Amino acid sequence: MENGEDTLAQLDHAIEMRVSAIRAGHPDWLCRMGCDGCCRRLAEIPTLTAVEWQRMKTGLDGLPASVFATVRQNISALAVETDRPLVCPLLDQDAGACMVYEHRPTACRTYGFYVQRDKGLYCKAIEARVADGDWNTVVWGNQDSIDRRLAGLGDTKALTEWFTTVVTLAAPNDRG
Ligand code: SF4
Ligand code: SF4
Repeated sequence: MENGEDTLAQLDHAIEMRVSAIRAGHPDWLCRMGCDGCCRRLAEIPTLTAVEWQRMKTGLDGLPASVFATVRQNISALAVETDRPLVCPLLDQDAGACMVYEHRPTACRTYGFYVQRDKGLYCKAIEARVADGDWNTVVWGNQDSIDRRLAGLGDTKALTEWFTTVVTLAAPNDRG
């Protein structure tokens, strides 16, 4: 693991292969654009490794200034929020879409398609389909393996911490 970014790219590729295989075998899969239930019910503030944060920052840097200002406001509010579950500060709540989809964290790429120690990492809707036996042929991804590989990329910090240490809370237009 000499190069974290190479490894993150490899991880992305492995996840994409698994997700694509599941979708191909089950065209009625529930996860799709506009389905944002999991982004609205986060158990905790998302955590990211440094390379995941750098990727996300690329997405944040590409946002229009007004959208970035909304994200900045959302993240500031999230840092002091004590209620759970949480709405992700990067969710466009009107569109039901991630504002940094191409640059989203690894956990967001696996959710809905992976299991961890026999526990499905998916929402109630998928859980119900699994319980009904609809998707008993699914070859789920192995989240424990992903987590081990992710741990090799370095320590994690909460999104709120990354945001304040690197972005200095300035909107893109303010950053010259
Ligand atoms: S995990 Fe559930 S809520 Fe999240 S995108 Fe998939 S179907 Fe929608
Ligand atoms: S980063 Fe994007 S995909 Fe992940 S929880 Fe937030 S809105 Fe959803």
